[in-house]
Amino acid sequence: MNICKDRAFELLQRISFERIAGTDKELECANILKEECEKVGVEAVIEEFEIDMPEILEVSLEVTAPTPMTIPCIGIGKSGQTVDEGITAPFVYAEDGLATNLMDCKGKIVLLTGTLKPEVKEALKKAEVAGVIQAIGSLYDPQELIDELRPRNMMKKPGEEFDIPCVAIHITEAQKMVLANTQEVKMVLKQDADKKGTSHNVVATIKGTEKPEEIITFSAHFDSVMYSPGAWDNGTGSVTIMEIMHHFLKNPAKRTLQFVWCGSEEIGLCGSRAFTEQHKEELSKHLFNINVDMTGVLLGYDTAVCSCEHNVANYIDFISKLEGYPISTKVEMYPSDSSSFVQAGVPAVTFARLAPKGGMEIHCRRDTMEFLDPTAFIKTVEFMITFAEPVVNAKVFPISKTFPKEITEALEKFKKMFGMDNKPKEEKKD
Ligand SMILES: [Zn+2]
Repeated sequence: MNICKDRAFELLQRISFERIAGTDKELECANILKEECEKVGVEAVIEEFEIDMPEILEVSLEVTAPTPMTIPCIGIGKSGQTVDEGITAPFVYAEDGLATNLMDCKGKIVLLTGTLKPEVKEALKKAEVAGVIQAIGSLYDPQELIDELRPRNMMKKPGEEFDIPCVAIHITEAQKMVLANTQEVKMVLKQDADKKGTSHNVVATIKGTEKPEEIITFSAHFDSVMYSPGAWDNGTGSVTIMEIMHHFLKNPAKRTLQFVWCGSEEIGLCGSRAFTEQHKEELSKHLFNINVDMTGVLLGYDTAVCSCEHNVANYIDFISKLEGYPISTKVEMYPSDSSSFVQAGVPAVTFARLAPKGGMEIHCRRDTMEFLDPTAFIKTVEFMITFAEPVVNAKVFPISKTFPKEITEALEKFKKMFGMDNKPKEEKKD
């Protein structure tokens, strides 16, 4: 195989910096990836797309009774806003936001320690609460993480109305508020919820030698979140598909291979959604998507999540045994860019090397190269090539565009979460 762990880790070092969706830094990384392709003579284009970049103009949260205190908070983008002077209202701790938690909450500001799932949002609207405080993080977080309240936006379906102002606080502050028997709070949230930004995908193409009209994509997101250098998530995936590109450049495939580095995955799979949208006309030619979200962690385990027919999971199991390479498989949807392909009717698999509990963490300052290992990294790349090579060169393409029931059902939930529409064909059972 024409792959090289030193080359990969050298590139990983260069792109391990905060690469937030829609920022200059994200674009800087896109340019590095494009240049890396062009250095070896592979044509790469940067494709632009629009993203929501709501701007928080003013936010604050204070306990006004019984004992005044200021609570550090951030505004949740795309939620509602308060009047200029803010709202002062009775406070209720509403746990998970069940209907029973929200009885008699009309006009009150509620604290949630659960997530803002679609059904919770509905219950909040129905209860006519005046404001929402969402607790995030862990009670065991060290101070440095408590100080890192990452900006977040609400996931909304296009056209969905949700105009309740929401702020997020660290869960240690939630603990303080409940312990202090908080009765009343004042919340201020002003935002420009409709502000837009620009993000980018990088798309490199190696034309097939025999069936150039048939396309297989390798994808990996290259954006990271605030405070995170994103070495593991997903600098590693980005350099994984770069190495796979190097391999196929020296070992040309029968079918056309596209390498897609997606921007803005972290804010709702936006890059891959934009890709399938911008390439709508060619989607019938797209046979399969192979996505990578995190590889290279030293202490960890490999997994392949197949959002496609069971044959693919069985095939991975089979070669795992032939090669003596441990990797678990599942037939499921996965919260990464593969889902956008599935939503567009293209079968997909996501490869990942994940960490055990207590192991390396993502979405924080600690996502550096410290616990990554070139040897662990290259083994996953080798396995992926062992898997992909016969597929991209198959005499008859072996993966159909029909989906098992568990995928079509799971997709429904994803659509609610990420605001997607359309439905791929369901597999017919006879
Ligand atoms: Zn990721």
